[in-house]
Amino acid sequence: MVKDPINIVWLKRDIRTLDHAPLQAAEQRGIPYYIIYLFEPELMAHPDTSDRHLQFVYHSILDFNRKLSGFNRTIEIMEEDATSAFEYLITNHNISEVFSHRESGIQLTWERDKSVYNLLKSNNIHWTQFKRDGIERGIKDRDGWDKQWYVTMSQSQIHNTYSPQELAPLAHPFPLTSTLKKRLSDYPKKFQPAGESNAWKYLNSFTNERGKDYHRLISKPLESRTSCGRISPYLAWGNISIKQAVQHIKGHENYPHNKRAFNGILTRLKWHCHFIQKFEVECSYETICINRGYELLERPLNESFVKAWKAGKTGFPLVDACMRCVAQTGWINFRMRAMVVSILCHHLDQDWRTGVYHLANHFLDYEPGIHYPQFQMQAGTTGVNTIRMYNPIKQSQEHDYEGKFIKMWVPELREVPTEFIHEPWKMTEMDMTFNNITPPLDYPKPLVDLTESGKKARAKIWGHRKHQAVKAEKKRIVKTHTRNN
Ligand SMILES: Cc1cc2nc3c(=O)[nH]c(=O)nc-3n(C[C@H](O)[C@H](O)[C@H](O)COP(=O)(O)OP(=O)(O)OC[C@H]3O[C@@H](n4cnc5c(N)ncnc54)[C@H](O)[C@@H]3O)c2cc1C
Repeated sequence: MVKDPINIVWLKRDIRTLDHAPLQAAEQRGIPYYIIYLFEPELMAHPDTSDRHLQFVYHSILDFNRKLSGFNRTIEIMEEDATSAFEYLITNHNISEVFSHRESGIQLTWERDKSVYNLLKSNNIHWTQFKRDGIERGIKDRDGWDKQWYVTMSQSQIHNTYSPQELAPLAHPFPLTSTLKKRLSDYPKKFQPAGESNAWKYLNSFTNERGKDYHRLISKPLESRTSCGRISPYLAWGNISIKQAVQHIKGHENYPHNKRAFNGILTRLKWHCHFIQKFEVECSYETICINRGYELLERPLNESFVKAWKAGKTGFPLVDACMRCVAQTGWINFRMRAMVVSILCHHLDQDWRTGVYHLANHFLDYEPGIHYPQFQMQAGTTGVNTIRMYNPIKQSQEHDYEGKFIKMWVPELREVPTEFIHEPWKMTEMDMTFNNITPPLDYPKPLVDLTESGKKARAKIWGHRKHQAVKAEKKRIVKTHTRNN
């Protein structure tokens, strides 16, 4: 017996009920449809993925289901690799069309998408992949990209409507195993709460109150935790679209009063897409230097340096505070991210690949399209951007003068007075005794001498820029990733 046709909406990094083109298309077709999310074992085992990402996704799904419960609609969750899940669905159901957003992901998701595409095509099933957040597919350079981005951002949002689900739940043999379900359910409170409802709570609190000093406090490790948008995980997992965020901020009644602050965040929302666009064109940046010429630059592995960096035990208080804070909370601000990468790759002279997955795992807002290009930019392997080396002592003096953030995350330094908090190794035994600290201080000495390591690093990275291979690559990068008109 021929089964009635159904359509499938495949959710990926777009778990929201509004401004959602695939869900709108499914509604408009007028035939029954299911909404699915796949927890794919192959992707979950990839070193970029951590439990906090999966938990965020799972709790976003629960929020989505709550929102659509009045329509009897829920996301059908499967624990299976996409190709195999679709093979089953095609064999056992009569799928007419599939809808999703395009994914600008890593090589693994790109290959997965190609395999699903071929499978669907060979079964005469049309898969419509909608543009995500102003990211273009198939472009060879950036000509006209900026203009198009503004056009996309000014278009109307989709006000999705939902018809009640009348079908029985989708039959499949891939329910969540109890082990995974437990892992997903136990989402620690210390992370930002997941889902569309929380995305709007954070965005509203930014525009209503928190955001007025955005530009002034953006680099402060402590104050930025409340003054920044903090919408990055919601954008990364698609609980809101960039267009929703842009239009909300621009149209907000506080915009005229907070122009400097709000324009600051609006600029960054464009950067968000600018970086993902780079990755959309070249996802090998997950594993290979953006400028291939930097593959020739040797950085001998020093395992104890990498281990100390990951554990927050470099002996540089602000670096250690950041590394411990991000492990615990999933977020540090842009400058602190740039600084910890700078220390690893320049001062400790380690290859960027020794730390890139560690931070990907820890960032709750892990977005491949921003993460790898940004990481490489700070590591100096793009060969086109100015190389900034952050001095953690200077950063600490400028942005955490009293050491409040440091003391919050590095309890070993709680009794250290302000004059030594940025350079505790300068305290003599007498200084410690005067401050009720029993010597020796239970905190490591700095791994390197910053003046020496900075000098070496500058000579190394700028020197390598003159290499023929770097120069040749530079032309390709400028042509592909920067605007030519
Ligand atoms: C090494 C490194 C890795 C990074 N990895 C990620 C990542 O995986 N995911 C991620 O979303 N951001 C990443 N960033 C960029 C930036 O640090 C975060 O977007 C920002 O800290 C998020 O906090 P927020 O939402 O409060 O940002 P806000 O300052 O409030 O900005 C609003 C939004 O603009 C975008 N944005 C802000 N700064 C940048 C930037 N420099 N480049 C691109 N987009 C930006 C983000 O979507 C952010 O949510 C990385 C930066 C560095 C240096």
